[in-house]
Amino acid sequence: MKTELSPSRTTNSKNRDLLNMKKPNNFKLRETLPVTAPCVLIRGCEYHVDLGTDHHHRIHRVNKNKECSCGAPFCEAIDAVRLYLQAGGARAPDPSGLPPCPICGEKTYRDTNWDGKITRDLGWRCSSGGLSHFLQVKTERIRKQFLKNPWLFPPAPGYPGVRRDELMTWETCERIHQQVFLTTGYDPRN
Ligand SMILES: [Zn+2]
Ligand SMILES: [Zn+2]
Repeated sequence: MKTELSPSRTTNSKNRDLLNMKKPNNFKLRETLPVTAPCVLIRGCEYHVDLGTDHHHRIHRVNKNKECSCGAPFCEAIDAVRLYLQAGGARAPDPSGLPPCPICGEKTYRDTNWDGKITRDLGWRCSSGGLSHFLQVKTERIRKQFLKNPWLFPPAPGYPGVRRDELMTWETCERIHQQVFLTTGYDPRN
């Protein structure tokens, strides 16, 4: 009897080995099926987070300063990017070609929301001073352009010309300053 049992045991253990070899695949399937983790993709220097079809606002863009395009300070897309990076996900490239902040010298990164529609200047934010440093540079540049070239249409024989300040007064500049103060709480005149 003993001699008959032993071969069956070995086949049993062999079968068990085969089962064990198949297990990892089964585990993988089980792990991936119930997970509805947001999908994180690198787009440019940002992360595009797809929160899935059950979200009304599905695609969120999270920048390298952990801010989401939807404006919610604790958006779950920001969390999704954090988890994605903790799990070893690839990092979005640092914005290249952007010079450091002219105000404080810190790194800057692109903010397409502030691209100049007429001037075609690229919008950016400072990693230290945020949007206020961008606006400070922008208002300063408007003022310098103004001083450097006061003529919108320079005078010509028989034509007095039109100065920029006849169209864009210091009041306009003041209003821009006010706008900066209202949007950022930062007073560039100080
Ligand atoms: Zn969001
Ligand atoms: Zn700065």
